[in-house]
Amino acid sequence: MIEINNLVKNYGAKFAVDDISFKVEKGEIVGFLGPNGAGKSTTMNILTGYLSSTSGEAKVGGIDILENPYEAKKLIGFLPEQPPLYVDMTVDEYLNFVYEVKNCKLNRRKHLEEVRQVTKIDDVKNRLIKNLSKGYRQRVGIAQALVGNPPVIIFDEPTVGLDPKQIIEIRNLIRNLGKTHTVILSTHILSEVQAICDRVVIINEGKIIADEKTENITRAVEDNRRYSVKICGPQREVLSALKSINGVLSAEVTGERELDSYTYRVEAERGVDIRKPIFFAMSEKDWPIIGMEAVNMNLEEVFIRIMDGSLSKQ
Ligand code: ADP
Ligand code: MG
Repeated sequence: MIEINNLVKNYGAKFAVDDISFKVEKGEIVGFLGPNGAGKSTTMNILTGYLSSTSGEAKVGGIDILENPYEAKKLIGFLPEQPPLYVDMTVDEYLNFVYEVKNCKLNRRKHLEEVRQVTKIDDVKNRLIKNLSKGYRQRVGIAQALVGNPPVIIFDEPTVGLDPKQIIEIRNLIRNLGKTHTVILSTHILSEVQAICDRVVIINEGKIIADEKTENITRAVEDNRRYSVKICGPQREVLSALKSINGVLSAEVTGERELDSYTYRVEAERGVDIRKPIFFAMSEKDWPIIGMEAVNMNLEEVFIRIMDGSLSKQ
């Protein structure tokens, strides 16, 4: 449904996008994951025809966006990083305006009502956009993307700036859209792709460094378990006791201290559950464990693992 081949975009000597290729099949929800400045927005803006590429091709539904922008754009609903809202319009006026700009042929009243219901903005349809909360504005942004019922939906960082409740609502909305649409969304948050996407394309400094099913990424992130353990006892002795436990790969003090306890970061060898051995080793010495929690990898660590090959591309 979407095909990007050897896409390049440079600004002078700076390569915002540096030879990117990937495909998205019909019905997939793909997360485009990378830190700020990785090239996510640039790629999405090229894919949606907002920006020209330096070289390479981008196709939607088999149509080249450069050769036939009008036909290609009809297949795409786009929520840019900064949604193009006219804040002096009411929600209803704005959606009618979008309907006309897109030259939509669907039954106007029925279609716009459907779009408002899907995005849950029906109750604010007569409000001025400038008086809406950030969460509602984002929904209006999503609603404009859905006008015309395009089969492909592209969202650039759809949950940035929202509060936790709004984030959950928007994620649910996107997951539901994914049942009937092909979706690409960009994010710099690993847990966001884990919550929404079937597949993850990871981009860093303009290059794709991984293209994986989400479940593989999740397994890799959780596989090499690390724990943050709070233990009461003499720091150096506790540390050397932790290091001598079978299955412990490494242990270090985090610097956190609370009364007579210190927090240790302990990493287990692959596939070994070290929680019980830690408990028994500490209880033997009468050093109480007063806290233990798993620490998952963050995006930067996932990157490092991919780069050094320990998280394979497969
Ligand atoms: P992301 O969306 O992943 O945060 P962007 O695609 O916005 O990343 O940007 C990728 C890189 O290209 C960044 O280093 C950014 O500074 C640079 N860049 C983006 N737009 C321009 C521009 N118009 N002129 C020069 N550099 C740009
Ligand atoms: Mg961006």
